[in-house]
Amino acid sequence: MRCPQSCALALSAFLVGQIVQGAEQPADLVVLNGKIVTVNPHSSIVEAAAVREGRFVAVGANSKVKKLVGDRTRVIDARGKTVVPGLIETHVHAIGVARDEAVQPFVQLSSIAEIQQWVRQQAQSTPKDEWIQIPRIDLTRLREGRLPTRSELDAATAEHPVVFNWQYGSRQIQVLNTAALRAAKITRDTPDPTGGKTKIVKDAQGEPTGVLENPGGLTSKFRQSKPVSDEAFLAALKAVHRAYNRIGITSVIERNSNVEGYRTYEKLKAAGELAVRATVTIGYGARNTAEEAEKFIRELPFRFGDGDDWVRVGPLKIFVDGGILYGTAYMREPYGPEANQFYGFTDPGHRGTVNFTAERIENMMRAAHRSGWQMCSHVTGDGGVDLVLDALERVNRDIPVKDRRYTLIHAYFPNATAIRRAAELGVCVDTQPAWYYKDGDALAKALGEDRLKHFIGLADWRKGGLKVAINSDHMHGIDPNKSLNPFNPFLAMYVAVTRRTESGRVIGPEQRVSREQALRMATIDAAYLSFDEKRKGSIEVGKLGDLVLLSDDLLTCDAERIKDIQPLATVVGGKVVHDALSR
Ligand SMILES: [Zn+2]
Repeated sequence: MRCPQSCALALSAFLVGQIVQGAEQPADLVVLNGKIVTVNPHSSIVEAAAVREGRFVAVGANSKVKKLVGDRTRVIDARGKTVVPGLIETHVHAIGVARDEAVQPFVQLSSIAEIQQWVRQQAQSTPKDEWIQIPRIDLTRLREGRLPTRSELDAATAEHPVVFNWQYGSRQIQVLNTAALRAAKITRDTPDPTGGKTKIVKDAQGEPTGVLENPGGLTSKFRQSKPVSDEAFLAALKAVHRAYNRIGITSVIERNSNVEGYRTYEKLKAAGELAVRATVTIGYGARNTAEEAEKFIRELPFRFGDGDDWVRVGPLKIFVDGGILYGTAYMREPYGPEANQFYGFTDPGHRGTVNFTAERIENMMRAAHRSGWQMCSHVTGDGGVDLVLDALERVNRDIPVKDRRYTLIHAYFPNATAIRRAAELGVCVDTQPAWYYKDGDALAKALGEDRLKHFIGLADWRKGGLKVAINSDHMHGIDPNKSLNPFNPFLAMYVAVTRRTESGRVIGPEQRVSREQALRMATIDAAYLSFDEKRKGSIEVGKLGDLVLLSDDLLTCDAERIKDIQPLATVVGGKVVHDALSR
C-alpha cells in the first residue's frame, strides 16, 4: 500500500522545480510570486506552485508555473508573502465540539468575576427552574486557581440553580449554589450515598459547602444536555471545520471517535461539504484479554487505513492515565505537597491514576498489531509512559512494532530512559504546546520548576529521534484562541519556538525548537503520525494540493508575532476554502 520512504523522497527531490509529465493542461489553481516554504526534504523555498485535479502538478519558478495558467485557472498573486503546506492538526475532538456548540456555545471564562458576570447574563434568559451550567474551566486557567464557592455563585443568582463542573475521566468535582442544593434536595441531613465515592462536603457546622465530590446521581438528572437534531449537529460541525480552515488547518485527526464518527465524516464528504481531511481515531475502550480485544476489532466494519484522502480510518486509542490539569496523570514520583494542595488530594504518596496494568495494555496491543492496526495511547505522566513502553517492548519480542508508529498522546514529561526506549520502538508523540502556554505558570507553582523544565519537552523528544506532532486537543468552542483548548496552530508554533507561557515566562529554554522544526511538527511530521507523509505535509509535485498563504513571514517575523499570523487564503485540494485576500 505504501511505497518505502527512500523511494518517495528520491522521487520528490527529483521533481522539485519541475513540472510533472502530462501536466501541460491548465491548472485549477496557481500561486505566483510567493515565498513558498515547501517543507520538502531539502527545505526548498520556491516562487510558485500549481494544483490540478487536487494535486500539485508544478512547484518551482514563476516562469515555469505561469505556463499552466489557463482561462479558468484561479491565480493567487502572493505578492511575496509566505506560503506553507496546509497545516495538519493531529488531535481534535471536532465532533464533540460540534455537539456542545449546538446546545450552548462555549465561552472562555478566566476568573470568578467573569463566571459571575456570565451567570448573571444567562439568568436573564433562562427559566427559573432550569440549571445554569458554567462552561468548562480548568483550575490552571482560572485566575484564582481554585474552585468558586457556593456564595460566589449565589452572588450571581439566588433564583437559578447553578453548577460549576470540574471533571476529567473518573474524577468529578462540582460546586452548587444554594438554589441548586435546594433543587437537588441536598441539606445538612443528607448522608453521603453508601458504597460509592460520592461525598457531600460539609463545613464545621454541618452545612453543605456546595462542593460535591463524584456527585453521580445526585445531580446528573438536572444536567442532561438538550437533544440536538442531526441538522443542527452537522451545521455546527461544518462551522468547526470552517474555523479550522480560517486558521490554516487543512487536515485533522479526530482523536477519540467511533464508527458513527467515521460515518459522519463520510456523510459530509458524500454531500461535498467536507472542508478538512479527516483521519478518525477509534476508541478501543477497555478490553481485558487478547480475545476480547480481537473480538472488538473483528466486529469493526472497517480496517485500519481504509478510506481515501478525505476520510480515513485511523488508529485505536486507549486511555492509560488521567490528566495533568487534574492531578491524575500517572507520575513516576509523588506529586508532592504543593501539588496535592492545588489539586485537592491528601495522600502524600499520590502519583495519579492509571486505568490499566501493563499486561492489559499488552493484550490490546497484541490484538491490534496482529491485525494490522496502529495504536495510540492517551498517556500524560512519565509513570504511564513507562507502562506503555513496558508493554510495547514485550509485544515487540514477538511482533515487530517499529513500523507501527505507536503514538503517545500528551506524554508531557519526557526523560532520558523513556526517550531512548520509545525511539527504539519507533514511537511517535502527539503533544500540545498551547498547554504549556496556558497552564505553565500555574503548573510551575504546583509541580515545581524542575518538572516544568521538561513539560511538553519538544526538543527532548525530537533530539531522541522521535517524530513529534504539535496540536491542540481542541474540545470546546470555536474561537482559535479562546477555545478549550486553543487550536490556533500559530500559537502552538509560537510556543514551540519561544517557550513562553501566557505571562511571558520561559521555563526550560532548552526545549525551544527552530521555526522550521516547529513548522515540520505541524505539517510533514504531523502527516507521519497517520502514515500520510507521502500524500501530504509538504508542497511537492504529486502531493495533495493543500496550502496556506500567510499574513506574515513565519520564518523571519518578530518571534512575538508568530502567534498573530493570520491565513490570507487556505487551499484544500486546489480549492480555496478560506479567502481573506479581497478584504
Ligand atoms: Zn484529546
